[in-house]
Amino acid sequence: MNDCIFCKIIAGEIPTAKVYEDAECVAFNDISPQAPTHVLIIPREHLASLAEAADEHEKTLGHLLLTAGKIAREKGFADDGYRVVINTNRDGGQTVYHLHVHLLAGRPFIFPPG
Ligand code: AMP
Ligand code: ZN
Repeated sequence: MNDCIFCKIIAGEIPTAKVYEDAECVAFNDISPQAPTHVLIIPREHLASLAEAADEHEKTLGHLLLTAGKIAREKGFADDGYRVVINTNRDGGQTVYHLHVHLLAGRPFIFPPG
């Protein structure tokens, strides 16, 4: 876990532009934004991916999604809309193995994604 880049962000070892934090999660701007707004929301507790989530993570997972909705309202794009993504494992395109919710907004998104 010492090598986990998102754990290092939580520990303050890597500086980031945080947009929100509470006892359970931290949200910060993606270093390589794919939309005018691209925020990552991560649990403070290390969890590699959604594929490893279990019943004990129910509250955390719910909290991450509620936080996405809260940030969307606070930033003012809830009505226009936004995209929430959890890339999971190889075929899902996951590159950082600390579960994270992508919150993307500020342009239209197509579906299905590539
Ligand atoms: P994923 O491909 O779903 O695993 O997404 C990982 C995301 O983390 C990518 O969008 C990266 O741009 C982003 N990322 C990687 N390192 C950092 C960092 N130091 N600060 C902010 N975002 C990062
Ligand atoms: Zn981690």
